[in-house]
Amino acid sequence: MSETLFYQRYAKRACVICGSEASILLFRQTFSEMSSGSLLKGYDVVVCASCGFGFADHIPDQANFDAHYRDMSKYEYQDQGGQETEYDLIRFQAMSEAISPFLPSSNAHLLDIGCATGRLLASFKEKGYNNVIGLDPSPVCARAAQRLYGIRVLTGSLSNITEVMAAELPLDCVILSGVLEHIRDVEQALLRIRGLLAEGGLLFIEVPDATDFARWPDAPFQQFSTEHINFFSAISLKNLMTHYGFFQMLSQQFPRNQTVSTVMPVVVAIFRKEKKWRSFIPERDNETQRGLLDYIRESQAVDDRIHQAINALAENGQSIIVWGVGTHTLRLLATSRLPEANIRAFVDSNPHYQGLQLNGLPIIAPADLQHRTEAILISSRAFQIAIERQIREELGLANEIIKLYDDQV
Ligand SMILES: [Zn+2]
Repeated sequence: MSETLFYQRYAKRACVICGSEASILLFRQTFSEMSSGSLLKGYDVVVCASCGFGFADHIPDQANFDAHYRDMSKYEYQDQGGQETEYDLIRFQAMSEAISPFLPSSNAHLLDIGCATGRLLASFKEKGYNNVIGLDPSPVCARAAQRLYGIRVLTGSLSNITEVMAAELPLDCVILSGVLEHIRDVEQALLRIRGLLAEGGLLFIEVPDATDFARWPDAPFQQFSTEHINFFSAISLKNLMTHYGFFQMLSQQFPRNQTVSTVMPVVVAIFRKEKKWRSFIPERDNETQRGLLDYIRESQAVDDRIHQAINALAENGQSIIVWGVGTHTLRLLATSRLPEANIRAFVDSNPHYQGLQLNGLPIIAPADLQHRTEAILISSRAFQIAIERQIREELGLANEIIKLYDDQV
C-alpha cells in the first residue's frame, strides 16, 4: 500500500469560507497510532487557492472528533482536582474584562462552549453576571464546574447543541475560546450558534493565530496537532464570520499587540449577529500561507536537531521510558527513528490513555514509575520543565532524564 493512501480514505474538504476545492499543499503531517485506534493518522496542511484560508485536509468526519473529545478529554485537569493553572486564571480574567463592556447588562445570558471546568464563567459570575451556563463534551468537566464554582454545565457538543440548549434560548453572548480550530464541520457549527443567539447577540472568538506560529517556540510542527484542524488569521476569521452573517466589532492579535498575557499567539475577536446576510467577497488572505511556510521552515530546522538525539538512542540501545503520548510522540514515532530505540513503556498523566498500548508497549501512569530504573525521555517542549519537576519533586525519582530541548527561561 502506498504510504499516502490513508489520506484518501477521507474526502477533500472544500474551503468553508469561499467553497473552493482548489488548495495549495504546504505540509504533510503524520502520526503513529494507538492500540485503541487513533483519531487520525495524519493530514495535509493546505491553504485555499482562492481566499487563502488554512486548514487540515483529508480528515475524518465530525462524529470521530466528537467521540474523541467525549472519551479522551485532557481538559478535566485530574492532576489538579479540576483546578486550572495560574496562566489560565490570568487569561480568563482578561477575557471576561474584554467581553464585559459589550454586554447589554449584568442580566445577559452567556454560554461558554467547550467550557472545561467552568473557570471563565466563574470570572463572569464574580463580576455579577448570574445567567451563565457552560457546554462541554466531558461529563467529568460538568461535575467539576458545579463542584468548584456552582456553575451549571450541560454535557454536549456543537453537533447536538441545538437540542441540548433548547430550553435556554435566546442567548445574548456565546463564547468560543479555543474551540473553532478544533471543528471539522465549521459551517454547521456556525449555523447552529447563529440559531442560539438573540438578534444583535454577540459571539466572542479566540483562536490560535497561524500567521504568528513561527515566532512562538514550541516543538516542531506541534501546531499541526491531532486536534487543531483549522489555521486562522485575523483576516480569515473575519471572512468566515462575515460569510455566516456576523459583523466584526473588535479584532486583536496577541501577543503582537500585547495587552494580555498569553503563552501562544491568538486572534481575539467579537462579532455581532446581523439580521440580514449580506453577499460579500472575502478579502484575500496572503498572511496565512506566508506564516505557515515560515513556521514549517523553522520547525524543520528544530526537527533536524532533535533527530540527532533520537538517532543516538536508536543506536546505543539504552532502555528508556517515553513520557507523553500526545501529538509530539505520535509524530516522532511516525517520522523519526524513535521506534528503533529500546523503549520499555510509555507514561502519560491522562488516565484515558493509561492501560492502552502504543507501538505494542504499555502506557502506564506516572505513579507506576516507582521502582523503574530506565532513563526517562521527556517527549514535550512546552511541558519539559514541568514534567522534569514532576519527576524529581512530586514523584521523587532519581532516574536519568533525557531532554530533547534546551530549557527555556
Ligand atoms: Zn477559500
